[in-house]
Amino acid sequence: MWLYYVRRYKHVIWGVLLAIVLMLLVVIGVKTTSIKKAVINEDVYSGKAMGTAIKKTIYSEKKKERDAVNTAIDDCLRTLEKQISVRISDSEIAKCNRSYVKNGTYRLPENIVFYLQEEMKVAQETKGAFSPCVRPLSVLWGIEDGKNVVPDQQRIEEKVKYASYSKIAVSDDGIIFKLDNMAIDLGAAGKGIACDEVMKTIEESKVEGAVVSIGGSVAIFGSKGDGKPWHIGIRDPRGGEDDVMGVVDCADHTFVSTSGDYEKYFEENFKRYHHIFDPRTGYPVDNELMSVTIIGDNGFMSDVLSTTCFVLGLKSGMEYAQKKGVEGIFITKDKEVYITKGIKKEFRIKDNQYILAN
Ligand code: ADP
Ligand code: MG
Repeated sequence: MWLYYVRRYKHVIWGVLLAIVLMLLVVIGVKTTSIKKAVINEDVYSGKAMGTAIKKTIYSEKKKERDAVNTAIDDCLRTLEKQISVRISDSEIAKCNRSYVKNGTYRLPENIVFYLQEEMKVAQETKGAFSPCVRPLSVLWGIEDGKNVVPDQQRIEEKVKYASYSKIAVSDDGIIFKLDNMAIDLGAAGKGIACDEVMKTIEESKVEGAVVSIGGSVAIFGSKGDGKPWHIGIRDPRGGEDDVMGVVDCADHTFVSTSGDYEKYFEENFKRYHHIFDPRTGYPVDNELMSVTIIGDNGFMSDVLSTTCFVLGLKSGMEYAQKKGVEGIFITKDKEVYITKGIKKEFRIKDNQYILAN
């Protein structure tokens, strides 16, 4: 009997079954897209801090979480700047420069002592290419304050004496200056330190992924929910602020820092004078490089090493980066690009004015 009905209404039954399957597919589809969408909600926040442009791209399900971490990052940067900026008159660094007594120990907070000790290791290993007390040279040249004349040779030579790392010593309690008129700053590391602090702030939040850039230093956290690596653009050293010459794929908890001759500079007689100095000559670095990008698992060290490798030049800089266990992208004035072995698969050129040379 029921077979009779099945046969008779075969078409109707098939129709109903098909409709049910279609409805199920639609429901599942809607559900998966809404899950995907929830994970990849994104906001971009732009602003200024630590004397530079800040961009935060934050991924999480809820807007409230994204806004909260944005505010927390701003607070964290403000607190850090008050402590380490040489330009803020009651920062630890500014107070130290103003009030140290020659050959005595000037006590500094533990975190600053740590940064200075690490910087001193780099200074020693590079025989002074890096120097925590390069500041008298930066002040003399005044490039970051918009001065655009080459100082007298005699005055440069005088400041070179103060700019050598051999004229300071860092103990567990603080710093000893061996001459008067010296000064330290954390200029070559500050944005990287800020990236480390930002990373801690993000870790404490509920967001799934974030990319925060502070000037030329970038902190990369988590994922954007699609299981793919982050694509970080490498600035074209002869292009505008948003021009990218290549892209490097980065994983969670990576830090990318770039130092170049384009950030702050002036030109005289077709020669470029910029804000990264060779402390041994007293002049802005003048080698084959336009920029160095360092990729590592620590913001502070990536920033220190991008400045250091820029001063060292292509060959020594590549060797030193490898010795320190970080990856590097070195761009020469001839627009040749040299990269360390560990990022051969991760790095791609996007602008064909540039060529991969190794
Ligand atoms: P930016 O601050 O533009 O991102 P860097 O990280 O390369 O670039 O740091 C440049 C700053 O580091 C300069 O403004 C100066 O304060 C400081 N500096 C310049 N030359 C040296 C050097 N040889 N060693 C240590 N610090 C340096
Ligand atoms: Mg640096």
